[in-house]
Amino acid sequence: MTVRIDEKKVFDIIEAKKPRVVLVNAPGGLLRQTKELMERVKKKYGVTSILSGDSCFGICDTIDDDVEKLQADLALHIGHNAAVNEVGDYTYLVDATDDVEFGEVVDTAAKVLAPYGRIGLATFSQHLQQLKPVKERLESKGFQVSVGRGNNLMLEGQVFGCDFSTSYPIREQVDAFAFLGESEFHAVGLALATGKPTFMLDPYMNEVTDMQQAAEERKKRAVLAVYKALDARVFGVITCLKEGQKMVGRSRWITNRLEMSGRKVIQLAMRDVTAERLAPHREIEAFIQTACPRISVDGFTFDRPVLSIPQADALVALIEGREAGEFLERPKWIELTVGLTKR
Ligand code: SF4
Repeated sequence: MTVRIDEKKVFDIIEAKKPRVVLVNAPGGLLRQTKELMERVKKKYGVTSILSGDSCFGICDTIDDDVEKLQADLALHIGHNAAVNEVGDYTYLVDATDDVEFGEVVDTAAKVLAPYGRIGLATFSQHLQQLKPVKERLESKGFQVSVGRGNNLMLEGQVFGCDFSTSYPIREQVDAFAFLGESEFHAVGLALATGKPTFMLDPYMNEVTDMQQAAEERKKRAVLAVYKALDARVFGVITCLKEGQKMVGRSRWITNRLEMSGRKVIQLAMRDVTAERLAPHREIEAFIQTACPRISVDGFTFDRPVLSIPQADALVALIEGREAGEFLERPKWIELTVGLTKR
């Protein structure tokens, strides 16, 4: 496996903008390549780079606001490809792609997918270029294949861990989804959001995994957390300070609904929502966080309910005497607030 950062794009940006200082952030898996690239930028152009040490999990983690604080000239956000080139005032998105081939695992998957005639394809940033060849290979084996249309933020067939709005609209046209890549995180999310059988195609191990069990487990835990929170009298409503997750309006709405039902609410703000950060707030019986929904859906370390936005919607519905419904089945679990400029 080789993940390649789009070096040419970085050089083009440096040559066009002529910065003195560049702020950079990248997910953990790309830090080594990012550091090497910034070394080359320094040698070639004499440009200083500052690598952000804060968490960088998704496209929500842009650092546009920090450019001025650090007296830098622009920011490079590496590895979260999208339908846009720039976000905010200073930030350029730089693609990273994985050159692994899917031919072998598609042949393995064809046997597993045989009971499903109509397949939806989806993947995450690093494998987007594989959608076309995989579609053609599956079609040559007799499958009817659909790929969800792109939108203002996401490319065709792309999903984020919180946003499945490309795949969700085609869920009625397909019998199952095939997710390209070794990422249970994305594949489970796709299964939960679409409510469809979903299979993860891992090209490194040549394995095809049915995500149903993992999705069922997370769904049960998510429902249980909602019912536990129903008994709470004191809530903490957390607004995230990350650029792409500023859900101030949602936090207010949830706070109002809880207060109208007689619950006490303490409003909190933080960048990273972790068990350690929540531990000192002992009087709070349940939390609602309007940041990354995966903190709640995948978070196994909290000692009290920590609900995401879809779970909070379910909680409010139950408090108001309505059905909670299939609250995770929706195109987006959070409305990302990444500042957008068209590609
Ligand atoms: S909010 Fe969405 S994009 Fe950001 S880390 Fe969570 S799942 Fe990924």
